[in-house]
Amino acid sequence: MSGPLLDGKTAVITGGSSGNGRSIAETYAAEGADIVVADIQETPREGGTPTHELVIDEYDVDATYVECNVTNLDDLEAAVDAADEFGGIDVMVNNAGIFRQETFIDTDEDAFDQMMDINVKGVYFGVQYAARKMVENGGGSIINMSSNAGLEGSAGFVTYCTSKGAVRLMTYALADELGPENIRVNAIHPGAIETAMLKDDVEIVGTEAEEGYRQTIPLRRLGQPEDVADAALYLASDLASYVNGESLYVDGGMTNSG
Ligand code: NAP
Repeated sequence: MSGPLLDGKTAVITGGSSGNGRSIAETYAAEGADIVVADIQETPREGGTPTHELVIDEYDVDATYVECNVTNLDDLEAAVDAADEFGGIDVMVNNAGIFRQETFIDTDEDAFDQMMDINVKGVYFGVQYAARKMVENGGGSIINMSSNAGLEGSAGFVTYCTSKGAVRLMTYALADELGPENIRVNAIHPGAIETAMLKDDVEIVGTEAEEGYRQTIPLRRLGQPEDVADAALYLASDLASYVNGESLYVDGGMTNSG
């Protein structure tokens, strides 16, 4: 396959301002895609130029930012519609998510609902709005961000595991539902990736816990957002044209090791 892998394509990336989503936007833009960044806020959690401005400057693609809370269906629809300006959506990355540690016995309904609304409902309707357009356009690729927590259960993370497990099986059901429309639906399962999520939300990076995590990873390093972005590039591109209903682990070997 020669030439940029996403030449002429348009991607909508939820949670695209920061972390994994920001890196996916950069990687896609470097391969020629126009980008819609759909996020609650424009400013990256890690600081720096807003993602859409960065990719316009660095890669000479078209890009825009849409203020989008994925729990709001009108926001999601507007984010997908924003791709029309660039020729219509080809790739949808349902990446926005939150991660919290909690004690199961004390978890209240509001905390449960918030995580399920963002991590599950946001993905479900993100796929639905993208798929409506993709059916009209003749196909596309949808990537849902699960986690190693969608494959294995962990104490302290019951709600998160519940949400990411739901994303995994939702992805498989959607692959079956949408495959006949030439829409591929796949999931990525990152392990521990160095983003603000692991620095500020659940403090692992830079703490004593970090070394313990590292020892559970066969490659003995935490992942970088670029590792996730490269997997998302593969799944978005025609290199993965016969890959549908798949779970791609990006975890340094952690999940499948003893
Ligand atoms: P991150 O650095 O916190 O980035 C997440 C982005 O999503 C932020 O810009 C955040 O905005 C945005 N966001 C949060 N809630 C949103 C909502 N309701 N609507 C729209 N955008 C929203 O986290 P990350 O590590 O890149 O995580 C991205 C995805 O990867 C998540 O689904 C996460 O569960 C998954 N993942 C991450 C890891 C890891 O180790 N980092 C591992 C496995 C899976 P704010 O700035 O307002 O918070």
